[in-house]
Amino acid sequence: LIEGPAAGALRAGREAEADRLLDEALATPEAAPRGFVSIVGAGPGDPELLTLRALAALQRADVILADRLVGPEILSRARREAEVIDVGKGPHGEGASQAAINRLLVHHARRGRHVVRLKGGDPFVFGRGGEEAEWLARHGIRFEVVPGITAALACAAYAGIPLTHREHAHSLHLVSAQGAGEDVDWRALARRGRTLAVYMGVAAAAAVQERLLAGGLPPATPVAIVENGTRPGQRVVVTELAALAGTVAALGIRSPATLIVGRVAALATRLAWFGEPPVEARLRQSA
Ligand code: SAH
Repeated sequence: LIEGPAAGALRAGREAEADRLLDEALATPEAAPRGFVSIVGAGPGDPELLTLRALAALQRADVILADRLVGPEILSRARREAEVIDVGKGPHGEGASQAAINRLLVHHARRGRHVVRLKGGDPFVFGRGGEEAEWLARHGIRFEVVPGITAALACAAYAGIPLTHREHAHSLHLVSAQGAGEDVDWRALARRGRTLAVYMGVAAAAAVQERLLAGGLPPATPVAIVENGTRPGQRVVVTELAALAGTVAALGIRSPATLIVGRVAALATRLAWFGEPPVEARLRQSA
C-alpha cells in the first residue's frame, strides 16, 4: 500500500529504515502536503449516531482507513469510489500496527488524497487519535478531528442508565482496563457516588472486580454490562460487583462490551428502552 523505496524496506521487514526513507521523502519540497486527513469518530455502531460532519467526511473520502469496530452499515454510507483499507486491530493486537497505520496516513495524504481515519466511538477516547494527530502534526499534514459518540455515552443511553444522577452519582470516570488495568489507580476510583465506565473490561473483569473490592467499593454495588451497545445484538446484563467476573464468564460476554459500575447501573432494569430487556444475573464464582 506504500510505494517507492520505503515499500521495499517495509517488505523486507526493515521498519525503522522504512520510516526513515518515508521521513526523507516527506522532507522534499515536492512532498509539500496537499492532502488532508479527517480523524473521524464513527460512534458505537448504530449508523444514526454518526454526526453530520462524520458523514460529510465519509462522502468526500478518497481513502478510508477503518477500524474493526466500524461496521458495514457505516462504511456503506461512504463515497462509492473511496478505497477502504481495513486496518482493524483485534483484542489481541492483530491487524495493522500503529506504525503501519501512521505510515499509510502520511503516504496517502502526501498524494493529495482526502484520507478518513475512521474509528469506533470517539477518536480521542481510548482511540489512539492523539498519537495519530501528533504524527500528522509532526509531518506537517493538515487534519481535522471529528468527535464521535463514545461507548460510555452510547451504551448508557441505549441501556437506560443515566451516567450522572442527583441521587446516585456526581462524577463520571472513563477508565481503560486494557492490560488488566495495570496503569489505573483503582483504589482512587473505588468511592461511592461515582459512575465508572470501563472500556476493554471483558478480559479484565476479574481484575476490575478484585481491585475495586480491594479499594473498598461495596460487593453489592450494581454493575451493568452492555455488550454490542446500540447494535441489533445489544445485550444488557445487570449484576453486582462481587459477581462481575462470574457473570461475564457464565454468560459468555464478548468484546465489545462496556461495564458501567455504580448505583446508576441498577436503573437499567426500569429505564431500558432499546433491544431485549436487561437480564439480571448474579453469578458468583465459587473457586
Ligand atoms: N474510541 C472508542 C473506544 C475504543 S476502545 C470509543 O470512544 O468508544 C474499545 C472498547 O470500547 C471496547 O473494548 C468496549 O469497551 C468499548 N466499545 C466500543 N464500542 C462498543 C459497543 N458498541 N458496545 C459496547 N462497548 C463498546
